[in-house]
Amino acid sequence: MLKYFNKLARIGSAAALALMALQLAPMTGSAAPVARAVASHLTVEGRQTVLSFDLTDTLKIRAYVLANPDRVVIDLPEVDFALPPPRAVPKNSLIKSFRFGLMGQGRSRVVIDLAGPAQIQRAAVKSIAGGAPSRLIVSLVPSDASAFQRAAAAAAEEQARQTPPAPSPVAPPANGKPVIVLDPGHGGIDSGAIGPKGLDEKNITLAFAQKLRDLLVASGKVRVVMTRQDDHYVSLSQRVHIAEANHARLFLSMHADILPAGEGVHGATIYMLSTKASDAQAARMARDENSVDSQAGLAATVTTAPGVNDILDDLANRETRVFSHIFAQDIATQLRASGDLNKNPERSANFEVLRDPDVPAALLELGYLSSQSDTAKLTSPAWRAATAQSVATAIERFFQQRGLIGPTSGEADATASVPPLEAAKP
Ligand SMILES: [Zn+2]
Repeated sequence: MLKYFNKLARIGSAAALALMALQLAPMTGSAAPVARAVASHLTVEGRQTVLSFDLTDTLKIRAYVLANPDRVVIDLPEVDFALPPPRAVPKNSLIKSFRFGLMGQGRSRVVIDLAGPAQIQRAAVKSIAGGAPSRLIVSLVPSDASAFQRAAAAAAEEQARQTPPAPSPVAPPANGKPVIVLDPGHGGIDSGAIGPKGLDEKNITLAFAQKLRDLLVASGKVRVVMTRQDDHYVSLSQRVHIAEANHARLFLSMHADILPAGEGVHGATIYMLSTKASDAQAARMARDENSVDSQAGLAATVTTAPGVNDILDDLANRETRVFSHIFAQDIATQLRASGDLNKNPERSANFEVLRDPDVPAALLELGYLSSQSDTAKLTSPAWRAATAQSVATAIERFFQQRGLIGPTSGEADATASVPPLEAAKP
């Protein structure tokens, strides 16, 4: 039921929620005027399901199917989806749900979740008389499974060729200060959880990460790199890559998810990486978080067979795991002091975004949008400032324990005279 609500809410992240989004975070700016999608229509006629969007301008699209799970993806130039929440999906529709949003600079996407294998009968933008100047139309009919798989395999290869490798933000070197990568969860087409008042998780995480960044930069002891600075999509592997490219010494992912009603779960929770989940809630959280690439219309990746690299990774992992645990405890200690902790605050599960074997990492659930009291906190600037300060203190404490920065703020940078626990990275 909750999943269903979440899905519907994803579909409906639109004009009604735009005001809230603007209050929490600025949308991606773009110099060129972008087309707006002003209405959507979903109809079923016999075997055919047709999804269309009324647009203020004509544009080029690319539509294709992907498998595991079965989806239709429509890539298009940046479009401002100024849409009211669509009505319920009609019965017998080949479309289970759909979502839309920014993928990156100048790129938007529509992702359709299919009820079964389908063939794209038509995908085009055509001019229409009256109303909006043009309409994007995608019509689907059922397809047999093997034809669908063949089309999906070809499209997955083409998607890999067409997707430009996103440039990793790299911070300039600054006197050997240790690098922390701040990772606001979700973004762009991936709204993350949507709270009862239409609050997008992606905006809450970004607002918090920006506050935390400002505090760390003001303190001047660490270098901060953000996986995203605005409202666009960043894949899980790209987030990990940003940490690698910046020789990060610490990685912190931030979230504010929804848990099924009735659990009464509230307060901050710190998750660490483990192939075995600490509990059912942690397992479900990791499963949901690991599915965001698929929801954003990325082709399923092939998992490689275990081999020698896994053994090497495992050795690196052991040290990383110890430091990740210390970091999680540091955060718990600081947040306990401000009374914001979940009753079972340290958990673990197999989160893809935490899988870099060399970088101590944690995923901080700031609170849960399924909890009324948490939602009130998550939207309060005063709470955000105080909690970001606690987390900033935990981050600096972690680096102090490792001898990577001096003991108190205001002192000279002691990095040069205190040997770090592992060889300094360039
Ligand atoms: Zn999340």
